[in-house]
Amino acid sequence: MAETFVYDFADGNRDLKDLLGGKGANLAEMTNLGLPVPPGFTITTTACRRYLADGHRPAGLDAQIAEHLATLEAAMGRRLGDAADPLLVSVRSGAVHSMPGMMETVLNVGLNDDSVIGLSAQAGGNDRFAWDSYRRLIQMFGKTVCEVPGEDFEEAISEVKRAKGVRDDLALDADDLRGLVTVFKKIFAKHTGHDFPQDPREQLDLAIEAVFRSWNAERAVLYRRQERIPADLGTAVNICSMVFGNLGADSGTGVAFTRDPATGEPGVYGDYLANAQGEDVVAGIRNTVPLQDLERLDKKSFDELMRIMSTLEEHYRDLCDIEFTIERGKLWMLQTRVGKRTAAAAFRIAAGLVAEGRIDLDEALRRVSGAQLAQLMFPRFDLSSEPTPLTRGVGASPGAAVGQAVFDSRRAVELAADGVPVILVRRETNPDDLAGMIAAQGILTSRGGKTSHAAVVARGMGKTCVCGADELEVGRDAFTVGGTRIEEGQVVSIDGTTGRVYLGPVPVRPSEVVRYFEGELDAGYSDDPLVAAVHLIMSHADAQRRLRVRTNADTGADAARARRFGAEGIGLCRTEHMFLGDRRELVERLILAATDTERADALAALLPLQRADFVDILREMDGLPVTVRLIDPPLHEFLPSLEDLAVQVAVAHERGEDAGRTEEMLAAVRRMHEQNPMLGLRGVRLGLVIPGLFAMQVRAIAEAAATLAREGRDPRPEIMVPLVGAVQELETVRAEAEKIIAEVIGDAGVTVLIGTMIEVPRAALTAGQIAEAAEFFSFGTNDLTQMAWGFSRDDVEGAFFWKYLELGIFGISPFESLDRDGVGRLVRIAVQEGRAARPDLKLGVCGEHGGDPESVHFFHEAGLDYVSCSPFRVPVARLEAGRAAL
Ligand code: PEP
Ligand code: MG
Repeated sequence: MAETFVYDFADGNRDLKDLLGGKGANLAEMTNLGLPVPPGFTITTTACRRYLADGHRPAGLDAQIAEHLATLEAAMGRRLGDAADPLLVSVRSGAVHSMPGMMETVLNVGLNDDSVIGLSAQAGGNDRFAWDSYRRLIQMFGKTVCEVPGEDFEEAISEVKRAKGVRDDLALDADDLRGLVTVFKKIFAKHTGHDFPQDPREQLDLAIEAVFRSWNAERAVLYRRQERIPADLGTAVNICSMVFGNLGADSGTGVAFTRDPATGEPGVYGDYLANAQGEDVVAGIRNTVPLQDLERLDKKSFDELMRIMSTLEEHYRDLCDIEFTIERGKLWMLQTRVGKRTAAAAFRIAAGLVAEGRIDLDEALRRVSGAQLAQLMFPRFDLSSEPTPLTRGVGASPGAAVGQAVFDSRRAVELAADGVPVILVRRETNPDDLAGMIAAQGILTSRGGKTSHAAVVARGMGKTCVCGADELEVGRDAFTVGGTRIEEGQVVSIDGTTGRVYLGPVPVRPSEVVRYFEGELDAGYSDDPLVAAVHLIMSHADAQRRLRVRTNADTGADAARARRFGAEGIGLCRTEHMFLGDRRELVERLILAATDTERADALAALLPLQRADFVDILREMDGLPVTVRLIDPPLHEFLPSLEDLAVQVAVAHERGEDAGRTEEMLAAVRRMHEQNPMLGLRGVRLGLVIPGLFAMQVRAIAEAAATLAREGRDPRPEIMVPLVGAVQELETVRAEAEKIIAEVIGDAGVTVLIGTMIEVPRAALTAGQIAEAAEFFSFGTNDLTQMAWGFSRDDVEGAFFWKYLELGIFGISPFESLDRDGVGRLVRIAVQEGRAARPDLKLGVCGEHGGDPESVHFFHEAGLDYVSCSPFRVPVARLEAGRAAL
């Protein structure tokens, strides 16, 4: 049997998203719920993929379209483009993942020189409406299908308005619009070399192909990259009988949400525009009225809409957003989907649905993400100095953004590339502004509501946005408000929660969610519903997760903060930071030591300092494990640079002076210079080459632990050896360490574990041997990634990763999110072979990946015991570890 490329709305359902796209699947679902959806059918994503691969419509598609069109015509009692009583259809894209405004739509397909007369009769002799619809078709079809420049059409409209002395499109009458159709047809013919097609079926086929092709439009490609949507899915195409919101005052169109998508507050929310077609609302071109006003304008439709919205929430058990049209008092549903929402709304809606008994806690946990939690931990404006707002718009996407005003997306990209924070200020945004929106700290527009392009896209990106600040007059290189003119480069601050806009920088303060994690707000007593929602969901995540969450911290203060954030120990205390500042001189003495005595003196001076560091940290983490890593980087990192020293010595010689100690230092730095220091004398190699260095650190750890234990505390130190590649290295360090520990700890009752990092591929591949000498492994996935790929972790991001990302060699830097196939395989081998050799081996990870949501799921699956990440990522890791366990 031939492959099915076309589904009637009545034949689909929401589970067929991959095939029918989000819009098609949900239209089908609504049709089957008995909601008033205009009849239509959906062409599958498979057909699109075949078209894009082969360059023509797949065999069989045309016949299936004909068949479904005939069914549609029979249902509607009209034929497509019939001169007397035409059926018109819309042709809309609908991908699997929502890509708002990124792909194409053609409305009013089926109109031609004859059927325009029939449409007028259908609309009760409304010539104006019919000619307006026809000119819209030529305009959209021209732009979308035949790449006729949109400005030519816009210019023609302006020309007619100028000649007539009017400003508003609505002031154009039927004759004006008939005249415009003639002009539009000429524009069309001039650019394409042929006449506007009069055959309705030809219009339909060409529109379908244009929608297929729009999958690869530049802005769609960019959006997918930003949102990490796979590039090869293709879009479905929905063919839907037209209903009209522009038939007069008893018609209109709107967008609505079953809850507020910005805050998550319960209660319907939306925008309505009377006497308009759908695109007018989404584009934010004309200012809308709040949905509640519809009750006054058309109570019957309003009541029906409220009933439908509650049916949809009940059915989808989630926030739904919908597009609807009222045609002469009859309500039609054009689209629904589970709506995008801000991070705060995601938590509040999930907790709200739990309270209403619609979903359980597991489901609530599935519906939020670590990335959203991270957003809620961003700071907000500190308004204690009571700055006066310059103006106010609609808070469309929360956050506090401060930056220089720019008025053009290209400029925003340029300045941001130079590290300048910018706020993109536009009358309204359109899909071509995407690159500027990505580059900007925040977006400010003067037109459009919470459902405008700017608002929807900004929310999707988690970017601060204020829109519809209608007091702003936005020009090409400045905006004015009241009498004030603000030019490019002047700093503005925008508050995406309240919609306030300030001139100059406003200081920012920590988020409520951070205050809650800090223990400053008690969720039980907080009247902030967001804090209560975060508390509810975090508690469930903690109850579900199997992975423990530790932190990477090397000071008592960091350790204490991480503990407040829920860290269950330290997974990595990097000791090299403890050799900087005042202590640099001691390290220099150690390196320059010419005799054993000199070296021993330098180490003896470092010992009490290190001991105090460890006392501090172990005290803060009392009762919890603290993994201290012995010094890792090449020692010359603690000395001045070779170039600086060489210059100083040369200058001294020039002046005939004695460079003395500088000269000695220069010689030492030369001696230690390495071409590839990251592959050189560092980690365990350093410990084996510099006598007494590791021993001093081990002694400091053991003495700190013994001191605390004697005070009645419960220190749990774990000593970690870096960069091990062979068990023999570890055995050597271990033998020395054990002696020192036994001697220092005595009867203090402290257990000190000794383990290693797994960060050299050979260590992963010989994990069975290494486990014989290690009580724990901690995956150092930064170095493991560096050495598995052969990428210098300090250089590649700026050097060529952008190209790799562009080429799709990987979708995200492997230093950010763990490469499961390669580095992940090394981790799995080490887990399996390590545990086989030593069943009680403790396994963790302390590379940056420990705080990355995707990677946390991998570590859960790989069977690690814990992840360790920076203090601020601890709540994110807790949440994701909970989600991974569901
Ligand atoms: C690692 O390599 O993953 C690691 C945690 O160590 P560092 O980043 O200090 O090299
Ligand atoms: Mg490392």
